[in-house]
Amino acid sequence: MPGSDLRAALADMRGAVRQGVPLAPMMHLRIGGPAEWFVEPFGEQDVALVVRVCRELELPLYVLGGGSNVVVADQGVRGVVLHLSSLHRIVREQNRVTVGAGVTLPSLLRATKEAGLAGLEKLTGIPAMVGGAVAMNAGTRDGETFDHLVSLTVVEPDGRIGVRAKEQLQPRYRDGGLGDAIVVQATFELEPDAPEAIFARFSASLQARNRSQPVTQRSVGCVFRNPPGDAAGRLIEAAGCKTMSVRGVRVSDKHANYFVNDDTGTAGDFVALMTEVRERVRAEFGVELAAEVKFWGFPER
Ligand SMILES: Cc1cc2nc3c(=O)[nH]c(=O)nc-3n(C[C@H](O)[C@H](O)[C@H](O)COP(=O)(O)OP(=O)(O)OC[C@H]3O[C@@H](n4cnc5c(N)ncnc54)[C@H](O)[C@@H]3O)c2cc1C
Repeated sequence: MPGSDLRAALADMRGAVRQGVPLAPMMHLRIGGPAEWFVEPFGEQDVALVVRVCRELELPLYVLGGGSNVVVADQGVRGVVLHLSSLHRIVREQNRVTVGAGVTLPSLLRATKEAGLAGLEKLTGIPAMVGGAVAMNAGTRDGETFDHLVSLTVVEPDGRIGVRAKEQLQPRYRDGGLGDAIVVQATFELEPDAPEAIFARFSASLQARNRSQPVTQRSVGCVFRNPPGDAAGRLIEAAGCKTMSVRGVRVSDKHANYFVNDDTGTAGDFVALMTEVRERVRAEFGVELAAEVKFWGFPER
């Protein structure tokens, strides 16, 4: 089995290599089985080494950010789950900040607010790491991660480290368009503003979010992408799905595009509920809802 060679192949890597690590505690949804291998590299060169080794050993490689947009299969995932929490530097140079992929958005927002740099507060309340926010081009009605992006440092699928300027990237709605490249660092250009003014916008966004979304419950945020010109949540509600549940997972009564886990739910329940909701929306409106959430360890979906 190729994975048995992994520890030896990563002997020169700075960081941790663990086997059979439960993923559920790291996922916002608190669902999912273990990772066959869980690797936490120390720096960019170490990430690059992991990518090259996985390629050589033909091991599937998954990158975990904040775990806020992923459903892991109940039986877990084969291969390597890479976690970049060691890439946690924030460096400011005038109006630019360069941030490691493992920095959480809330800590980045706190740092930029204190530095009097505005722009990122439109991402308030998104429970992501910077790498995951870039990969998904996370955003709100007020704007997206790519709005203030200048460049990215990535590890390419062949293990080379490269810099991609914003102009070389093709972000779309909830998709940074990076393919299999791994973000290790991002640089944003922000605007100077008074910390109090930034904080006021931050607080207003947070309050609006608390009113309209089940932020204290276990979810993955929006399950489905908004179809062009409409909102998935509106369609789900109008199709009469707001009270639906499959065992421990139910449609949130606060926001119908959020499914919440009551702590007994499984990935199987989540997928079964998605299937039912999708069928009802298709039958009612002829609209095919596409998943925004990512699935790991499932047969091809
Ligand atoms: C309560 C709640 C509210 C939310 N609100 C919003 C919202 O308002 N707007 C919004 O857009 N999303 C929202 N989301 C969804 C989620 O937060 C975003 O999709 C976010 O970008 C995911 O980031 P993450 O770091 O948690 O990534 P993960 O969930 O860990 O991963 C998501 C995807 O990104 C990939 N990825 C992660 N890190 C990297 C990396 N370094 N390089 C390359 N690929 C990587 C993963 O492989 C995976 O495919 C919400 C989720 C929750 C639970």
